Amino acid sequence: MKNKIWLSSPHMGGNENTYIQEAFNTNWIAPLGPNVNAFEDALQHYVGGKKEIAALSSGTSAIHLALILLGVTKGDEVICQSFTFAATVNPIVYQGATPIFVDSELETWNLCPEQLELAIEDRIKNGKKPKAIIAVHLYGMPYQVNKIKELSVRYNIPIIEDAASALGSEVNGQKCGTFGDFGILSFNGNKIITTSGGGALICENLKCKEDAIFLATQARDKAPHYEHSAIGYNYRMSNVLAGIGRGQMEVVQERVKSRRNNYLYYYKALKHKYEFLQEPEGYFSNRWLTCIITDSYATREKIRLALQEQNIESRPLWKPMHLQPIFQKYPRYINGISENLFDKGLCLPSGSNNTEKELNRIIEILKHC
Ligand SMILES: *Cc1c(COP(=O)(O)O)cnc(C)c1O
Repeated sequence: MKNKIWLSSPHMGGNENTYIQEAFNTNWIAPLGPNVNAFEDALQHYVGGKKEIAALSSGTSAIHLALILLGVTKGDEVICQSFTFAATVNPIVYQGATPIFVDSELETWNLCPEQLELAIEDRIKNGKKPKAIIAVHLYGMPYQVNKIKELSVRYNIPIIEDAASALGSEVNGQKCGTFGDFGILSFNGNKIITTSGGGALICENLKCKEDAIFLATQARDKAPHYEHSAIGYNYRMSNVLAGIGRGQMEVVQERVKSRRNNYLYYYKALKHKYEFLQEPEGYFSNRWLTCIITDSYATREKIRLALQEQNIESRPLWKPMHLQPIFQKYPRYINGISENLFDKGLCLPSGSNNTEKELNRIIEILKHC
């Protein structure tokens, strides 16, 4: 059997161990400490220096805290891109709120501005203005930031920007994660950089960051004993894991470059056979995963199984949330685009540690399918 090629596997830079060792040497084995602070500083600098970062235990927890900080509670409605991973939606339900699913457009595969406007108008007509909009930069491709922002301002509904897979992506030189009222990042094992598990909340200002950390550390009021006047969570990042993050931030630029090179390599070899997602003018995708669109569900499955046969992992695009059994009961504003992408699309192995030889192995199979 040929060696396994993964969809997206962790890729260490080299210094991660040094920072972990530092945590052990100084006994900072806690969900706070010098690695957490340094990792937050590195992220802050990387996304442009104007925002404040709170390092958390996951991207999911970051979305949850953003919803809480925006006052989303039982009975509220939150608009959510349907074409995404379940982790984008789940925290809405944690809060007892109702997700309202909105479909995608073809240019970026993300939140469709026309469907979004329709949804907002319709929800208002139904008697409830949505409390927030969760927009996603799926697979690293930025959503239509200007059009979505315009609607957010016009209707005065804040945006939570799910940049879980978009660290390093940009629109006109501005980093993803900094366009919304809140941005969230993930450092799960399959993302462009990892802390094995982890996430971050990108906040407008220091007060906001402090509020997030307060909630993420069990909402302890100022008192010598433990005093609580709010419900808290255990969502802060471990200082040991933040050590991995510090090491990863030293190579993040190279990781973005490798992922983009993967895309280009696939594109050049296969552009006549399959459809690829192109960057609109001014858009810069980190190309977290390279995806192809085939002509049918049958072709997509044929390719997926042929790759699997050769010990190569690939995966259909996200199954839209409005099609998921658990979310079927919620309102949706649908145009068919995400369903079509799910039917015909496939994510190809896209790790920054994939070798040219491995890419050639994959391309050979794709050429002959
Ligand atoms: C990975 C991911 C998340 C969740 O992040 P975790 O750190 O795994 O909790 C949320 N949204 C999207 C789009 C993701 O890809």
